[in-house]
Amino acid sequence: MSLRINIIRGQNQIGGSIIEVYTDSTRIILDAGANLGESKLRTFVPDVDGLFDGAPAYDAVFVSHYHDDHMGLLKYVVPGIPIYMGRDAYSVACALREYKGKTLGFSPVFMEAGVPVTVGDISLTPVLCDHSAYGTFMFLIRACGKTVLYSADFRSTGRMDFSALLEELPEVDGLLVEGTTLSRGLDFHEPSEQELEDFAAETLEGHKGPAIVYLSAQNVDRIVTAYNAAQRSGRRFIMDELTALVAEAAGLQLDGFVLRASHSLADLGEVVAASAGGTGTSDHISLTGHRRTAKAYPAITARKAFASPDFMLCLTPQSLINFQKVIQRTSFRDGVLFIARRENAILKPATSAFISFMKSIDAEVPVLHTSGHADSGTIDRLIRDVRPSVLIPVHTELAEWFSRYEDECLVVYDCRDYEI
Ligand SMILES: [Zn+2]
Ligand SMILES: [Zn+2]
Repeated sequence: MSLRINIIRGQNQIGGSIIEVYTDSTRIILDAGANLGESKLRTFVPDVDGLFDGAPAYDAVFVSHYHDDHMGLLKYVVPGIPIYMGRDAYSVACALREYKGKTLGFSPVFMEAGVPVTVGDISLTPVLCDHSAYGTFMFLIRACGKTVLYSADFRSTGRMDFSALLEELPEVDGLLVEGTTLSRGLDFHEPSEQELEDFAAETLEGHKGPAIVYLSAQNVDRIVTAYNAAQRSGRRFIMDELTALVAEAAGLQLDGFVLRASHSLADLGEVVAASAGGTGTSDHISLTGHRRTAKAYPAITARKAFASPDFMLCLTPQSLINFQKVIQRTSFRDGVLFIARRENAILKPATSAFISFMKSIDAEVPVLHTSGHADSGTIDRLIRDVRPSVLIPVHTELAEWFSRYEDECLVVYDCRDYEI
């Protein structure tokens, strides 16, 4: 009896993760991700017989989190293979899709943190970890007398206690560990969400104008950071519809409002301009539609919500196209635009034009971002804690960084049908 690992895709690249784990009698898949930046059309699905084509040859697919590079191909998994996913991750993933009027295209079996799932002779226990996706799981796998940990995407800079996580983890025979940041020039201490929150709260204290946090709705931790900063500085917290849908799906209890969808942004332009001494108009603004409405938070018209400029608005790229038209007629005197997205996301033309415009009207535009991935010190802490005999770098463009562990364990750089 042997436990083997076969990385189908996503070892020496960031994203597109598809990992096969198998024994003589059981085969499971960890994540079924799309390549970053690649279309998720059928033509881009790799040939994996029994997973995406033909008769089912796998006993289960386990999904660590809702980022596309880990679950973007799930809708192509052949019927008959159960898909396991966390309830929170599924809930947020549904909200993100339903906002666009789409569905995920599969129904998962829910798994819970700390509760082992047994499939054939493999036992898999989800372990909740911190990442820029809500409800992300590491996987602790036991079979044939061996233990393997798959780190998925993780970090130590969120609001979860990383030391407590390490205490929970046993020593393992094999460790699949992500190394995203190693080649991204982020090999230094990344700020924590708490540090971002402190910075945002301090920044807001020095400004009387409106504040916007430009963020990805997928990043639930950042919504909380924005909310806490707004609370600390006495600002009303307002979310665009997508942010509110995700907050609702994640079960966040926020004392905040969702901006009324219909014409609310036109109202916003008018009211903010008026309150800040600008020259807003009530011209009709066409808004792009969404298909679902958040119910957990009271809806409010912009006219009422923004009677004074002491608010904090969470704005996603999905709302930007509407907002941009309005903002050009709006005074953001003494206002702040927090950029809570990573660098390559803000290089997109619409976003960079938005940022340039905000700067041109004298809004302060600070960065409010930290990576969703472990820095090198955090990767070291995980490896030293679980003391693997076999170390398998994944999700990285700099696997050679792990050569520093070659004296202590075996490092597998090309993991094909490798027996643990
Ligand atoms: Zn990833
Ligand atoms: Zn991720």
